[in-house]
Amino acid sequence: MNIRNYKTTQERRKAIEKNFTVDLKNIGQSLIDDTVAQTRNCENMIGFTQVPLGVAGPLKLSTINNQQSTMYYLPLATTEGALVASVARGCKAITQSGGVFVDSHRIGATRAPVFYVGNLEGQKRLQDFLDTHRQELKEIARQSSGHLTLTDVTSRGVGTYRYVRFAFDTQDAMGMNMATIAVTQMCEYVGKHTGIRCISVSGNYCVDKKPSWLNVIDGRGIQVWAEAVIKKNILHTVLKTSAQKIFDTWLAKCMMGSAVAGSMAFNAQIANIVAALFLATGQDVAHTVEGSMGTTTAEVHGEDIYISVSLPDLMVGTVGGGTGLPTQREALSLLGVAGGDHGKNSQKFAEIIGGAVLAGKLSLLSSLSEGTLARAHARLARGGKT
Ligand code: NAP
Repeated sequence: MNIRNYKTTQERRKAIEKNFTVDLKNIGQSLIDDTVAQTRNCENMIGFTQVPLGVAGPLKLSTINNQQSTMYYLPLATTEGALVASVARGCKAITQSGGVFVDSHRIGATRAPVFYVGNLEGQKRLQDFLDTHRQELKEIARQSSGHLTLTDVTSRGVGTYRYVRFAFDTQDAMGMNMATIAVTQMCEYVGKHTGIRCISVSGNYCVDKKPSWLNVIDGRGIQVWAEAVIKKNILHTVLKTSAQKIFDTWLAKCMMGSAVAGSMAFNAQIANIVAALFLATGQDVAHTVEGSMGTTTAEVHGEDIYISVSLPDLMVGTVGGGTGLPTQREALSLLGVAGGDHGKNSQKFAEIIGGAVLAGKLSLLSSLSEGTLARAHARLARGGKT
């Protein structure tokens, strides 16, 4: 059987069913039109994987620039029982305590080709060319997309290789296709004028879809910070714990435990919330690996707790990629960020993710501090059976 001989989703599925004597009727069941998905999002398409979608909220969220708050219901696609309930409980505690405050900064999508420079003379020649031709490189980016601006160029040489990290403002798109298209043209331009060969348009200095200290330190995509102060009475009534217990758990787990393990993420469960939001809203879920590299802090303020997260690397968009698929677009609409708005939608979306992550972390740290994590999972993820 050659799967490429079949033209439609249905034909391919039927061929697979026949060839492997397997029933794929659920994979074939979808109300969504597959025309867009099979031409833009997925090759050799045979149907859809459906993932349960829940909502957590309301979450009261304000940006530090605009103190006016907005209430959000967060769409979370997951198969992990207890996750939505956990985030919902965190939202309740944060909202009743006055809400989460967020701030963000756009670093941009980065793409870093590797050039073969041969020796130190080649290193210098390439660097001199990049330094003196910034305007020309900017113009190449501008011509490749009306929504793309080259914002930064940094580079590093090792032996006979030079890695050049181009950063772009990609407005409301996550931007990796846009950046890759532009950088390919830039590499051709550099090669033509210097004779220096680009070995690969991605030299892993980007750093795309891999955990890396470079992304933690310099940031990538959109950086987000979120903070909240949870009042003593809310800690007792909603989270069934105390400020000191959360602090002790955070210190022992997120700080010391992560240090002992050599972890790159000083947090409790950022990946859970990032993955569920990414899946629901059509993000590239492989970027969860970057989005999960965040740090949580906690401080006891009297009998209240101050809790924060910093997310240095959120690669997100509200146009392009999977965001245009019908269910994913609806999930973005629920957050009021579907489509393009000069980069404002993607930044707002990243800030909402920051608030959602804080809610999930607060709830998990509370459960751990009270020793109720296993009980909640047994109750919610096993249909009540332990
Ligand atoms: P894209 O769908 O390739 O491009 C976004 C398009 O949206 C652009 O062509 C742009 O049009 C248009 N657009 C309209 N309004 C916009 C606005 N307000 N802001 C920004 N763009 C706007 O999406 P992408 O984000 O660049 O790439 C996402 C995809 O890349 C995902 O599917 C992901 O899985 C994949 N990906 C690719 C690579 C790679 O190396 N190629 C790596 C990782 C992930 P104009 O052209 O008119 O500006």
